[in-house]
Amino acid sequence: MTPFKPYQPESRPGETMGLVERVKRAVTDDAEEQYTYRCGRCESEFESTEAHMGKVECPDCGSHDLRTVATG
Ligand SMILES: [Zn+2]
Repeated sequence: MTPFKPYQPESRPGETMGLVERVKRAVTDDAEEQYTYRCGRCESEFESTEAHMGKVECPDCGSHDLRTVATG
């Protein structure tokens, strides 16, 4: 039996890597603002690009009791 191979557009591995790298760079260059939050429940600190605190939850405990931490 022939193993199933997902359809792949014509591209060599190198080109795919390049694209990923370019996308990564574009994201970084666009300098999406990073917000540092501290969890009021477990005091865990984490960064998020989400500016609306209400949409952010602690990755450790899932709490929405967060404060912003001044950076820079
Ligand atoms: Zn937490």
